[in-house]
Amino acid sequence: MDPKSASNLSFILNKQKDLCFANRPLPSLSGPHDVLVAVNYTGICGSDVHYWQHGAIGHFAVKKPMILGHESAGTVVEVGSSVTSLKAGDRVTIEPGYPCRRCPPCLSGHYNLCPEMRFAATPPHDGTLTGFWVAPSDFCFKLPEHVSLQEGALIEPLAVAVHIVRQAVITPGQSVVVMGAGPVGLFCAAVARSFGATKVCSVDIVDSKLQFAKEFSSTHTYISQRVSAAENAANIKKTCGLPEGADVVLDASGAEPSIQTSLHTVRMGGTYVQGGMGKSDITFPIMELCLKEVTAKGSFRYGSGDYKLAVELVASGKVNVKKLISETVAFKDAEQAFEKVKEGQVIKVLIAGPNEKL
Ligand SMILES: [Zn+2]
Ligand SMILES: [Zn+2]
Repeated sequence: MDPKSASNLSFILNKQKDLCFANRPLPSLSGPHDVLVAVNYTGICGSDVHYWQHGAIGHFAVKKPMILGHESAGTVVEVGSSVTSLKAGDRVTIEPGYPCRRCPPCLSGHYNLCPEMRFAATPPHDGTLTGFWVAPSDFCFKLPEHVSLQEGALIEPLAVAVHIVRQAVITPGQSVVVMGAGPVGLFCAAVARSFGATKVCSVDIVDSKLQFAKEFSSTHTYISQRVSAAENAANIKKTCGLPEGADVVLDASGAEPSIQTSLHTVRMGGTYVQGGMGKSDITFPIMELCLKEVTAKGSFRYGSGDYKLAVELVASGKVNVKKLISETVAFKDAEQAFEKVKEGQVIKVLIAGPNEKL
């Protein structure tokens, strides 16, 4: 494809609840290590919908029009003079955040914590719901031949789950409870199983999500009741046959009652990882944390090796990301697709790039 004669139509959030399409100039390589990628497919993330509906996530506020999208796969069309790992025509999944590579977090191997991070569709940076995207070559991961570009677009949320599960350092035979059965929660369950967890219980408030979780990879499910955190935790332990509690609890919901239930569900000396985001200050059960000496960790996006492992989990068939794709829509139907995700009728919707024929 010749990018000069192709469309760089972009899907833009002007401000809260105000979306539009506009042509943006074709981006060009900014250095010898960059590649230009034609975007084939982009998944809609909860964060995209949140910026659209609320105009901000925490202190990240949309102050000028911003292209949405950050879960993309595409085809390389041009490579910089120093790029040896990729060539035009290669199909890649795009890691969408670019750190400075020089600050203390970057140099200590935790580049996801870089204060200079330029992350797609996090204000003020544009996202990937556009025709062409420029990325450093080491943030583009070649897809094996048998992995489709649609699957490539799901590597991003899978990498989020890989990072959460890695934070917990799961060992074979462990029991894991996952709060939330949205895409990231579902992927956490699948990744935990691929790491050797033998019991994996998904917890949610929506029964249809739990039905799906059971078909996807969870060994057990529990639908949260309107009872105390301690009672929900007791029910989870009974459901899973874990009288001592779970070795690991992962939160992919960000919901206060789930977080409280998590601390009541984890066993003595167990591990808790906070992956979901929500209200920033909540009531946290510190007695559970102290008396059980729980190891509690946060997890943010993904870092060293997470994308690579996510691609391998898909390539080896350990995580069937395809199952989560509810539908793929044309670029012109992006706004309707956002509506569907907002209504919660779908698990994952992909938007084809503006140059992609469906
Ligand atoms: Zn996302
Ligand atoms: Zn940095």
